[in-house]
Amino acid sequence: MEHVDTLILGAGAAGLFCAGSILELAKRPEKPRVLVIDHARAPGEKIRISGGGRCNFTNLATGRDRFLSQNPRFCASALAGYPASEFVAMVDRHGIAWHEKTLGQLFCDDSARQIIDMLLNRMRGAQLWLETAINAVEPRDGGYLVATSRGPVHARNVVVATGGKSIPKMGATGFGYDLARQFGLRLIEPRAALVPLTFAEQDLDLCRPLAGVSVEAEVSHVEGRSATRFRDGLLFTHRGLSGPAILQISSFWKPGDDILVDLAPGRNTAEELKTQRGQGGRIAVGTALARILPARLADAITTELRLDGARLADQPNPRIESLSQRVHRWRLRPVGSEGWRTAEVTLGGVDCRDLDARDMQARSQPGLYFIGEVVDVTGWLGGYNFQWAWASAHAAAKGIVSA
Ligand code: FAD
Repeated sequence: MEHVDTLILGAGAAGLFCAGSILELAKRPEKPRVLVIDHARAPGEKIRISGGGRCNFTNLATGRDRFLSQNPRFCASALAGYPASEFVAMVDRHGIAWHEKTLGQLFCDDSARQIIDMLLNRMRGAQLWLETAINAVEPRDGGYLVATSRGPVHARNVVVATGGKSIPKMGATGFGYDLARQFGLRLIEPRAALVPLTFAEQDLDLCRPLAGVSVEAEVSHVEGRSATRFRDGLLFTHRGLSGPAILQISSFWKPGDDILVDLAPGRNTAEELKTQRGQGGRIAVGTALARILPARLADAITTELRLDGARLADQPNPRIESLSQRVHRWRLRPVGSEGWRTAEVTLGGVDCRDLDARDMQARSQPGLYFIGEVVDVTGWLGGYNFQWAWASAHAAAKGIVSA
């Protein structure tokens, strides 16, 4: 039987960071025994593929307003205890070059692999068992007995860092949720988020021929009196819409809801077309619209409105205005999303009401911690999800070493 102080389940962003933080924060001359277990062949697989291989490792604008949760205040304490600037300082100490892309999003100049190496370096002194199945977790002798494919492990603390359900092909499972249920913790139903949206046939008539076209757009979701808006890239796909603006709104969208798309935010299409019309000439509507939108999109919209080949000079104001409406207020009802296969994150998870916000410990189960994506805290696109993984892991590590 293996005996450790802390057993961390999951060698992803949160698990690796937690192991390193425990070793770093422990003041005792004898370092605590920490073991990290994962069923995957390699640690940090999602880090490796994140940010297009460059890992958007944090966001300078991190604050609790950038996270979705049924308990929106829960994440504040952990985020304040480990701000983005601390992670940046660590990245600097490890000599990893980075750059800010837009909106506070920080990426490695070179490769996401550097972040994984940094995390592994930092947790030297801890054990890492890969390709190890976790079969059962039971309370035993003031701690937990964990049955694994490499034999039993007894640990005083167990940290669940097994992530969400997105991208099962990469090793994602609902293990953390099952474990939470086993110990009587409540769950907020997990749902795919930061995910492309799919549409019914009639909407696909427009999307499908435009697959591959991207445009800067503002996408809104209205719920009651509050509207959520994201202005960013939108990409047409064979199944519907993707791109950062759509991924962002997907976290807010629920089946049955509409989304509203402005394909030319900040422009006044009606005025611009009327001005062009006033300048005379035989310009076609599609050609005029292509001065505002990508040509293929302009073409598709004019065809849809049966204006292909029509001259701008022949269009009365009401028709120009309805064309403009089509550009700025395109209302759509997605039929679904691409689901776990491509979702970047999982919305929902372990209900924050059952965790202590200071150290992520289960209120009813001393020594059992939940960190990272398995918790009902989900960041916007842009480095927030990793920042939550670091911050929640740090909070748990601090709690563990000071217990
Ligand atoms: P994970 O990193 O998912 O780690 C969980 C670990 O647990 C995995 O290693 C898994 O193998 C293991 N595990 C699961 N079930 C079991 C089991 N039953 N037994 C044993 N082990 C198990 N976020 C950002 O902030 N910036 C980005 O640039 C970014 N890009 C992304 C790109 C993609 C394509 C994806 C899918 C996600 C991206 N994210 C990004 C989100 C980010 O990767 C996650 O939010 C983050 O990895 C969550 O960390 P975690 O440690 O909680 O879970």
